[in-house]
Amino acid sequence: MTLSELKITAKAYKTILRWAQSQREIGFICAGRKNIVTHVYRIKNIDSESRIAFIPHAGQERAIRSAVKTNGMSVLSAGHSHPNQKDTPMPSRADCEFIRQGFLEIIIAPSKNEVRCWRMNKSRSKTLKQEVPIKIVGRTKDKNER
Ligand SMILES: [Zn+2]
Repeated sequence: MTLSELKITAKAYKTILRWAQSQREIGFICAGRKNIVTHVYRIKNIDSESRIAFIPHAGQERAIRSAVKTNGMSVLSAGHSHPNQKDTPMPSRADCEFIRQGFLEIIIAPSKNEVRCWRMNKSRSKTLKQEVPIKIVGRTKDKNER
């Protein structure tokens, strides 16, 4: 699945911005139906003191992914904050090594309240960073939701 833009509800967007206000690097998973992020799940950082790295708690991540599936949703993106980043939030060199290829990763620079989404593709030895526009959508109520 290749998304040309990442749609996210205003509520979910506000939530990740709030989480990113932490001094520590935080991470999360974005899920939803029909390519719209409606649910965000914070993942515990194993390196809880870190301002420069996010190492997801593997067991918790597995549990979130399975809950997303059980609820009929798909994981649409992951994301993390860069508390020290003063310019445009973009993947660090380490991120390029570890982020799953082709998957969308949101990066937040809390100092600027800036949120960007990236897709990484490895071609031979090079990692290509492609920015994917984020579109904030209004309150979209799923027909199946009460
Ligand atoms: Zn990073």
